[in-house]
Amino acid sequence: RTCEDEFKSLGNIRVYCRIRPFLPGQNKKLSTVDYISENGELLVVNPSKQGKDGHRMFKFNKVFGPAASQGSILDTRPLIRSVLDGYDVCIFAYGQTGSGKTYTMSGPDALSKEEWGVNYRALDDLFHISRNRRNTISYDIAVQMVEIYNEQVRDLLLSNGMQKKYPLYHSQPNGLAVPDASIHSVKSTADVLGLMQLGLANRAVGATALNERSSRSHSVLSVHVRGLDMETGASLRGTLHLVDLAGSERVDRSEATGDRLREAQHINKSLSALGDVIFALAQKSSHVPYRNSKLTQVLQTSLGGQAKTLMFVQINPEAESFSETVSTLKFAERVS
Ligand code: ADP
Ligand code: MG
Repeated sequence: RTCEDEFKSLGNIRVYCRIRPFLPGQNKKLSTVDYISENGELLVVNPSKQGKDGHRMFKFNKVFGPAASQGSILDTRPLIRSVLDGYDVCIFAYGQTGSGKTYTMSGPDALSKEEWGVNYRALDDLFHISRNRRNTISYDIAVQMVEIYNEQVRDLLLSNGMQKKYPLYHSQPNGLAVPDASIHSVKSTADVLGLMQLGLANRAVGATALNERSSRSHSVLSVHVRGLDMETGASLRGTLHLVDLAGSERVDRSEATGDRLREAQHINKSLSALGDVIFALAQKSSHVPYRNSKLTQVLQTSLGGQAKTLMFVQINPEAESFSETVSTLKFAERVS
């Protein structure tokens, strides 16, 4: 039985919404989330408005409330089997800064397995399942990690802390979207965790106190899998992309200037390009506008076709975030 069976009924694009819990010290009475249902419905309200005025209903494939544990939001195994069967998979986290994107993708603590985010769980499954198949298929696994900042692609895995910029190519030699970025062969989850630590440290380079770089850039961890069927000699190739997107918050044009404004414009452009690509795919449109941003170019081969896409839409519960929450949910509604 292949993984395909598990996805047939669900379609290749799925959107899950996750609501961050209130943080210590926040006023829990003023939540924008009125209720969530088992079948993915979510009602948000503007706590500062009376009556039905500020109510809006959304529906996604799934909705997870603030109490959802890290282990409950996604069973990564079906997606991983798909990668090991030779398909591409892309998992994103989308939302404003502080909404829990990094928490969902990486978790608060790489050392605690219970608290592992999607990344670590997926990698753990990848090594487990590939090992279980070792009598029939021999797998080679290698990773790349890049950052997209101001429409430039940089390698995060150079050990000297240098961040090299790379061009993108129309044709993709070796099936790699960023063929010049360093590629690291890995044998275990621990190998990948080590590389991710390096990537995160490199990502922080250049961050100032006021302007945390990680919320202004997209990070893309790409896990490339090559398999050789030892009986038939057939080969296969699959890629898993794990993407922590830049914060989606709108920046007040009257306040942002210079670098900050430029960053905001680039983020805006690439997130709308991503939305347009997924929307076109969901509509089965004949033209998919991949070329409008570096982000969609890097992810091109793993968006569309047989590839599977899962987006976690992250929202804040606080009243102050109401308008950002609604715009995040509208973005997600359009692509789901
Ligand atoms: P983002 O990456 O979107 O900017 P973070 O993942 O850094 O947001 O989350 C912001 C804060 O909220 C962090 O302190 C994080 O630990 C906390 N947080 C986010 N999601 C959860 C959750 N599901 N449970 C507990 N704390 C969370
Ligand atoms: Mg983050």
